[in-house]
Amino acid sequence: MRPAAVLPWRPAAGLALVFLFLALGHVVRDRWLLDTDGQWREALETLPGVGRKTANVVLNEAFGQETCAVDTHIFRVANRTGLGPGKTPLAVENAVMANTPRRFRRHAHHWLILHGRYVCVARKPKCDACPVARSCNWPEKPITAGSVAIHPAPPIGSSQ
Ligand code: SF4
Repeated sequence: MRPAAVLPWRPAAGLALVFLFLALGHVVRDRWLLDTDGQWREALETLPGVGRKTANVVLNEAFGQETCAVDTHIFRVANRTGLGPGKTPLAVENAVMANTPRRFRRHAHHWLILHGRYVCVARKPKCDACPVARSCNWPEKPITAGSVAIHPAPPIGSSQ
């Protein structure tokens, strides 16, 4: 066979090989996770570049566990409000989990991230428009903060 006849197929064959190896990698990794006997956090944190925060995200999103992946927003909001005071992400994570009612724990970190991203922002928190201002312990919040009526969420499962 002449080399020119093979040439057009080489890139496609190379790509197919790459995809094959990627797919095999996923299968091996998934198999490996299933073989970890439920010790998923420990298994995940052995992967390169995966720390506690990333493991918490995976455990929450993929495995439905109650975890809190403390990022910069959660760290700030938890400390300001008093929901989870702490000097390290782990201390904040433990405090937030301890102070959050069980039924909210699975999704609490999403709400805290959004609150920190759009309301309790780093430089100029929007305390006057903050729905949890009355419950917030931040000593620097303006005196008028909390004038917004708080509408507690209806219980989970209610039709409201
Ligand atoms: S009152 Fe202000 S500091 Fe407290 S949570 Fe709301 S925005 Fe953040």
